[in-house]
Amino acid sequence: VCAVDTRQNLEDTFRALRAAGIQTTRAGAYKPRTSPYDFQGHGAACLPFVFELAGKYAIRVIAMEITAEPQIDEIRRALQISGQPTGVMLQIGTRNAQNFELLKSVGAQQEFPVLFKRGMGITLEESLNAVEYVASGGNHKIIFGLRGMKTNLGDPHRNFVDFAMVPVVKRLARMRVCIEPSHAVGTRGRARDGLLDVMHVTAQGVVAGANMILVDFHPHPNKALVDGPQALTLAELPWFLEDVAIAREAYEKRRLLSERSAPR
Ligand code: PEP
Ligand code: MN
Repeated sequence: VCAVDTRQNLEDTFRALRAAGIQTTRAGAYKPRTSPYDFQGHGAACLPFVFELAGKYAIRVIAMEITAEPQIDEIRRALQISGQPTGVMLQIGTRNAQNFELLKSVGAQQEFPVLFKRGMGITLEESLNAVEYVASGGNHKIIFGLRGMKTNLGDPHRNFVDFAMVPVVKRLARMRVCIEPSHAVGTRGRARDGLLDVMHVTAQGVVAGANMILVDFHPHPNKALVDGPQALTLAELPWFLEDVAIAREAYEKRRLLSERSAPR
């Protein structure tokens, strides 16, 4: 899910993940919204049931965006109180990609790994410099996220899909790379061949060697408080996973082919 809304929706989602053999997820408590009048997330109030349900369904890592330093302590305390049933990966959203004080804060601790999302309106080099604020603080558990760029040239997608940069970022940043097809595409558009656009761009990132996928699922996308239009349904989860496995296999084969063929 993008944002945690109801306990029931979260539980339905976690149950579907466990049934599919998935132990990692995302769940937003602190949501940075474009409009101050939109739902801002439940904040610290939802952390107890998020962590409790993670424990119940054997979810081992939750990617969770933070927007301010005190939230790191809120997460740490809520994990302690609930008996450390899961782990958290701190997500820096695209709007905070150059919030250098926040980047220093997540870099100054080693407890939580960091998912840094590239800035949507700055150059790749500026994002690579920004993520150094995390690394130079001493935290080297960083994953670099591609989530599409803000430009109307990306229409009809929400953002211009930038997954061609997966191998480039791996080379330049020497970090593992996450692709974010939901925020990149932004819709449930379906191609002529029957595949969803979200699945097509996911496969493109995976076939290029992506290490992680962050993708929105929701039990009832039309009722989601945040980012419903781009969410896949829980019924689509097994299909999505099988499609990803095909793309991953293609990547592995391509890597072996390059080992055999490329002059060194
Ligand atoms: C999100 O992951 O819900 C989010 C706000 O993403 P981004 O920072 O990429 O816009
Ligand atoms: Mn979102």
